[in-house]
Amino acid sequence: MTRIVDHIKTSLRLRMTLGMGVMLLPLIILGVGSFVASQSMINALEQVVRTEAEELRPVTELQKLILQAGMPPNDYIILGDRSERVLFGYLVREIDARFKSLSAPAAFGEEKERKFIEAAGAEWEKARIMGMGILAIPHPGGNATAASRMKVFDAHIGHASDILNLLYDEVLHEIDKQRAHARSVQWNETVFLIAVFTGALVVALVAGFLLSRSIILPIRALQDGVFRFGQGDNSFRVVLDRNDEFGRLAKTLNSMAERLEYDGLTGVYNRQEFHRKLKNELDRSLRYGHTCTLLMVDLDHFKQVNDTYGHLCGDDALRAVTMRLLKDVRNFDSVARYGGEELVIIMPETGTAGARAVAERIRESVSTRPITTTRGAILDLTISIGMAAFPADARSEDDLIAAADQALYTAKQQGRNRVVAFEPGMDAVRRKGEP
Ligand code: GH3
Ligand code: MG
Ligand code: MG
Repeated sequence: MTRIVDHIKTSLRLRMTLGMGVMLLPLIILGVGSFVASQSMINALEQVVRTEAEELRPVTELQKLILQAGMPPNDYIILGDRSERVLFGYLVREIDARFKSLSAPAAFGEEKERKFIEAAGAEWEKARIMGMGILAIPHPGGNATAASRMKVFDAHIGHASDILNLLYDEVLHEIDKQRAHARSVQWNETVFLIAVFTGALVVALVAGFLLSRSIILPIRALQDGVFRFGQGDNSFRVVLDRNDEFGRLAKTLNSMAERLEYDGLTGVYNRQEFHRKLKNELDRSLRYGHTCTLLMVDLDHFKQVNDTYGHLCGDDALRAVTMRLLKDVRNFDSVARYGGEELVIIMPETGTAGARAVAERIRESVSTRPITTTRGAILDLTISIGMAAFPADARSEDDLIAAADQALYTAKQQGRNRVVAFEPGMDAVRRKGEP
């Protein structure tokens, strides 16, 4: 549990997902609630239908009573027993009372049903009169009038029962209709609810997904960028092509990295970036067996420029010389300011011969055309260049810098405005030559 809580605390993505889930909860509750409500509504409807079915019981009872009422006159004709009158009287009262209650407006609302009750009542009325007449015949046995009346009586009883049958069928039909309607309402309602709920869920999920993508992805890109910058990789740029807060944050981060990567005065890579690039190049050099050559460039007698024209003018001149260098190097060479008025050029996959050609071109482009500073001074400048190749002249980054520096020193020694490649034994000369 604590692990889960810790995970939630440390993952924005998880918190977002959980938040979305919590936001979806009311929707889910609403969906389930509506479903339950519709079910109970349908149950109520079913209850109404059941109640209606209950209403049929008085009809069947009445029908039973009417058929029973057919018996006393028949028995009276055959047996002549006067007690049949009492029984008939009792049944008549019962049947009349039932008809009365069935005719009440609350019993059957439908016009058609009421007509059936009326018609059955009329038939019963005729049967009742006829039955009383039969029971009033003093000696019914073998009496032809009694027999013919009996037929009419039976016919009325039969009609009344048939009409009640029709009523029964009619009510059953109504109930079936209502039940079918209830089922179709229930089905439609369920389909509608499921469709609305699924639609809402899909919309919510898509919205949540897009929202989380629009937040999580930029955060990841920014996190990657900060991590790379933290590792000293200032050449990395956070690619976030958007104008929102994340885009602005990425722009700020990138410009911060840019400032960490480039030298403020000359615009070329700074010393820190030079070391990083050199290390990468030397690693590549070892891996692929290529030669990598390092050039160290120093402006000749630059102190004099400062002394004569001032430091601001010197700065201009340093910038202008750097521009010339940049024009003459190849796309894959990296120019950096090593310090003061010293520049370094990393030449990947380049041997001493190739590097010398470029170095000479650079040297010439500075020495053959005067430099015009923005402050209007026209300066005839020269540069000296020391070269060292990896891995031929040095086995490590520091040794390579030292070797190029040594070659530069030799170039200065030999009279400046020249390119000198490192040779073994040079540093011994320097050690001897230096105080
Ligand atoms: P040489 O290299 O030919 O031996 O003579 P140098 O006069 O150039 O001597 P060195 O390289 O030792 O001196 C570096 C001078 O460059 C000292 C300083 O006045 C100047 N310098 C270094 N950095 C800057 C800078 O950023 N701006 C300006 N204006 N001058 C700088
Ligand atoms: Mg110098
Ligand atoms: Mg110097």
